[in-house]
Amino acid sequence: MVSRRSFLQTIIAMGGINSVFRAHAQVAPQTIMTVTGPIGADQLGTSLIHEHILVDFIGAAKYDPQRWNDDDVVKKVLPYLQEVKNAGCKTIVDCTPNYLGRDVQLLQRLSKQSGLSIITNTGYYGGSDEKFLPPQVFTESANELANRWIAEWEKGIDGTGIKPGFMKISVNPGHLSQASRKLTEAAAKTHLRTGLTIASHTGPAIAAFEEIEILKSQGVSPEAFIWVHAQTETNFDEYLKAVRTGTWVSLDGVADSNIQEYVLNLVRLKKEKSLHRILISHDAGWYEPGKPDGGNFRKYTSIFSQLIPSLKEKGFTNKDIEQLLVVNPREAFAVRVRKP
Ligand SMILES: [Zn+2]
Repeated sequence: MVSRRSFLQTIIAMGGINSVFRAHAQVAPQTIMTVTGPIGADQLGTSLIHEHILVDFIGAAKYDPQRWNDDDVVKKVLPYLQEVKNAGCKTIVDCTPNYLGRDVQLLQRLSKQSGLSIITNTGYYGGSDEKFLPPQVFTESANELANRWIAEWEKGIDGTGIKPGFMKISVNPGHLSQASRKLTEAAAKTHLRTGLTIASHTGPAIAAFEEIEILKSQGVSPEAFIWVHAQTETNFDEYLKAVRTGTWVSLDGVADSNIQEYVLNLVRLKKEKSLHRILISHDAGWYEPGKPDGGNFRKYTSIFSQLIPSLKEKGFTNKDIEQLLVVNPREAFAVRVRKP
């Protein structure tokens, strides 16, 4: 026990209350929220930051979780999760948003059965001509939308108690539509209340930099933002420009068919000393309701079987690989408020 008097003397000796909080902030362990509860950021391990378990493209108007049977999905997906776990993966970030097949109880079941950590999300998907947006996006304010997402963080999703570990939004390509601007503002407001990272399905750079401007105007650091599907931007200099703002650049379409493309970009990014802001993943999976046996499932292993060996041939060290698959995911998804 420390007496109040000696506690105050200690604070004064340390240079005041602010320095005590600063010192505390430095040692406080960072937390990441999975579908089975919070874990220390150091437990995240090798992570695939953009994959899908299930996606239903029917659209918000006809959206209905009755369209799939959890047992069928588990039967189909579990072997792929076991395969990637055997390849060395510890965590999968599931990027399927609400109204596109986000089924958090299914994710929890698959996490428990596979032994992988799985992270789910809150937010709405504004891409694809806004087909996946629920009607409230067009009638409510950014604050009202944020309150819905904040409630999922505080109380859990749909009464399950399962909490989101990040936000997944999506915007239209090109200059942002009104709805896309509103989603980005709602994401900023949610970030300031929850510390959840904002992953936005964006594509080419023009929309990404408009999103970054909105976040900054709302008092959110670009370090809280993941530019998803950045690989669709063909001008390499835009990656460097984004890295300089602190934004996470997500090159997340790795497949057996495009390994050399990724090797080329990653070698250049290493040369430019920018690997510390780069995330990689496959955007693979997924069980698709309405298709026989869930359709053609794409495996989650190209990074392990193809990309890593190719990068090592080009001089990537184990430390570089760890940066991309362990350190950056941990930094990107640790829940904390980031202000400029
Ligand atoms: Zn995706």
